[in-house]
Amino acid sequence: MLFGYPMAATAENWLHDCMVEMVTAIHTNLDAGVPAATWPAIIPAAHRNDLHSRTGLRERLDAYRVAVSGLTPTERQQIATCLTQQNRIDDLCSCAGDCVLLSQLPPASHAPIKNLFDYSFSLLAEIGVRDRHYEAIYSGMNCHVCPFCGCEYFDAPGAPREDLDHYLPKSRYPFASVNLRNLVPMGMRCNERYKLDADILRSADGTRRRAFDPYTEHNVEVRLNGSVPFAGIDGRIPSWTIQFEPDSPECTTWDEVFHVRERIQRDVLDPSFVRWLREFANWFKRRIAIPEPDAEIVQHAMLQYAEDLTLLGFSAREFLRAPVFKMLHFHCTSGNDRLNTLMIELVSMKGAN
Ligand SMILES: [Zn+2]
Repeated sequence: MLFGYPMAATAENWLHDCMVEMVTAIHTNLDAGVPAATWPAIIPAAHRNDLHSRTGLRERLDAYRVAVSGLTPTERQQIATCLTQQNRIDDLCSCAGDCVLLSQLPPASHAPIKNLFDYSFSLLAEIGVRDRHYEAIYSGMNCHVCPFCGCEYFDAPGAPREDLDHYLPKSRYPFASVNLRNLVPMGMRCNERYKLDADILRSADGTRRRAFDPYTEHNVEVRLNGSVPFAGIDGRIPSWTIQFEPDSPECTTWDEVFHVRERIQRDVLDPSFVRWLREFANWFKRRIAIPEPDAEIVQHAMLQYAEDLTLLGFSAREFLRAPVFKMLHFHCTSGNDRLNTLMIELVSMKGAN
């Protein structure tokens, strides 16, 4: 993940808090052997007016209560523990904590849990929280770009909604279904073609892995200096080595789930490289305008060009143009004669584009 979302956007998490409180109340009353709290008294007072007309929620809470009333106290405790643990998003992402999955809970509880939390997720849009959450994220972003790929623009609030991904998938972690800490706007390609229902916390063989906490501040840069000029397709494009800085186990998970390196190379670097060279040549001829520059002048221009591009930040897939010119500068100043010759020919007034 190239950068994190602002934590402040998760502040309006009251529906999640209400769900935890109501489920906990059901468990507490069953364990104490006292009558179940009635509707709407079971709704936390601060939000009783917001939810009392939601009969769908009432029905699903009842179904949940009936299901867990048939379990043993030990089984109910297992579910209550799971409710708490599945919502410790930061600990789960960092591997400081763990939790069981829905499939590991008593089978009789599966459908009632799923129905209850699927429904509560649908309420987020109806009560306006989903749109306000997105507005807060959008206004807090420097560039309105999907941070999982850097290549998909986000539309402004008011446009048809962007995908809202359950970062910990609700099929396995249903208790986090309505927790804004687990809900992340995501570009359609990232969500529907790559992440799908992948378990961000576990690899295919079930091994626990670290993942970026989507609401912590971080920045990951793409570095290309390890690429080899002229060694890629058609002998003109580099053979790319795509590195993340800082690299981390979180980057490994990110790449495995979202196929970041594969997509960067196939969809951006390979098809854009020749055009980017051509545009650099045009920029040089206008801005530098030295008809027959030497290698030092061209190298200095490449660095200036890359630094100017860096100032633009994440501007969709074009953000990869800066590391490309840093890579070219690196190899030119390291004495790659063939590359120096190519770049001089490219920018000289006589050079072919
Ligand atoms: Zn994306």
